[in-house]
Amino acid sequence: MQDEPMDKKDFCGDCHLSGSVFESMTDAVYLIDPHSSRVVDANRAAYESLGMTRNEVVDQSVLSLNKDVIGLDQWQAIAAEILKKGGFTFAGRHKRKDGSDFPVEIVTDVTEIGGQTLLLSVARDMSHYERHRDYLTDNDHIRTLLLNESSDGLWDWNVVDNTLFLSRQWFRMLGYGPNEIEHPTLDTWRDSVHPDDLERVVGLLQSHMQGKTSRYEAKYRLRSRDGSYRWVHDRGSVAERDDQGHACRVIGLVLDITESQQYAEQLLRHSRHDDLTGLHNRRAGYELFETYLAQSRERGATLQVVMFDLDHFKRLNDLHGHQNGDRAIQHFAQILQGELRESDLFFRWGGEEFLLLLPETGRVDAVALVRRLLNCFSESRFVSDNGETIQLTCSAGIASYPQEGDSIRALVSAADKAMYRAKQAGRNRVA
Ligand code: GH3
Ligand code: MG
Ligand code: MG
Repeated sequence: MQDEPMDKKDFCGDCHLSGSVFESMTDAVYLIDPHSSRVVDANRAAYESLGMTRNEVVDQSVLSLNKDVIGLDQWQAIAAEILKKGGFTFAGRHKRKDGSDFPVEIVTDVTEIGGQTLLLSVARDMSHYERHRDYLTDNDHIRTLLLNESSDGLWDWNVVDNTLFLSRQWFRMLGYGPNEIEHPTLDTWRDSVHPDDLERVVGLLQSHMQGKTSRYEAKYRLRSRDGSYRWVHDRGSVAERDDQGHACRVIGLVLDITESQQYAEQLLRHSRHDDLTGLHNRRAGYELFETYLAQSRERGATLQVVMFDLDHFKRLNDLHGHQNGDRAIQHFAQILQGELRESDLFFRWGGEEFLLLLPETGRVDAVALVRRLLNCFSESRFVSDNGETIQLTCSAGIASYPQEGDSIRALVSAADKAMYRAKQAGRNRVA
């Protein structure tokens, strides 16, 4: 209790920070009398940051602690403003006992304690932030490194005269010589943006310039000198606004993300496609099936669902090996794909089973088409890897939306049953 300020008790009996949650905070906390500028109490972080004991801080005027508040008049003007607004944040410097000082950001709120109106100030030591900033502004090497290595291009757009500075790396990224484009303007950039991306990207930039977003960020394609497109991740923000708040200068960095974008696309392709046939896999096919079904429902149109299953496939595997089995599955997929329309959906349902969706096709036409497909397949030549010609056939079952069902489950089950009937009727046919 040695640090306990005894003499302030008659001023405000309840105004203690010791023992309260404030005591454990890493930010400095001060209770201040707005009228006299007297520190009523301070937490441990506060007096330790000043190199003082609690007693040395309490009852001092904040004027003696804060380097940037000069004289009681200025303090009272600040205090009046804080009381009026109910809160205030300012950046200043706090003085230590040894005469040194450090930057602080002080957030002050008005509070009532024991019937007294007091200011509760939380001061955060900003030395680290300042050091960071000084480091960047004083350090040419770091600036050069940031410009050259943290991005593939820097742009600096003067909105007022529409000039655009583009760094050497920006040109290099797109395969241009550093002086090839003499006086770039915003149109230099706009002309390079992929037409399919332009509207979206310009919208994002405008949203930020209008203050709707805290920064501008977009992924899009930029055309390089040879006409191919690079994927870039572009980030920027308004650096200057005029008195009316209009953006006058916007600065940003672009990063070439072509390779990671291609990798991401490849991953997506893998997750949606079957490795053996390159067709959509069951998961992706199921999703597309939902879309097809929804569209048919909307249009009141029919949809034919065909289930294919290769005949005697176990026998083929047993007689010729799994590798030839795999090749036969690829062969089947290839033959059918060559015969189908863009609008048809053909995917691997699993194993040696495939689903085909025929939108806006009547049942009679569907039967004729499937017969033709089965013929193509049975007449195609499939040669095993040891040169043996193998006769392949397939059976199919058709179910029609909406006659045989309104859901994927019902339609697949009906097509499956029909396919089973085709098997029983002797295979190499459609039911
Ligand atoms: P059915 O004419 O009645 O259809 O006779 P089936 O032998 O084809 O019988 P079923 O359709 O039930 O069996 C399919 C077999 O296909 C079982 C499995 O070993 C084989 N199979 C499934 N997927 C693959 C695959 O990716 N590669 C190979 N090589 N075989 C597969
Ligand atoms: Mg099967
Ligand atoms: Mg089979």
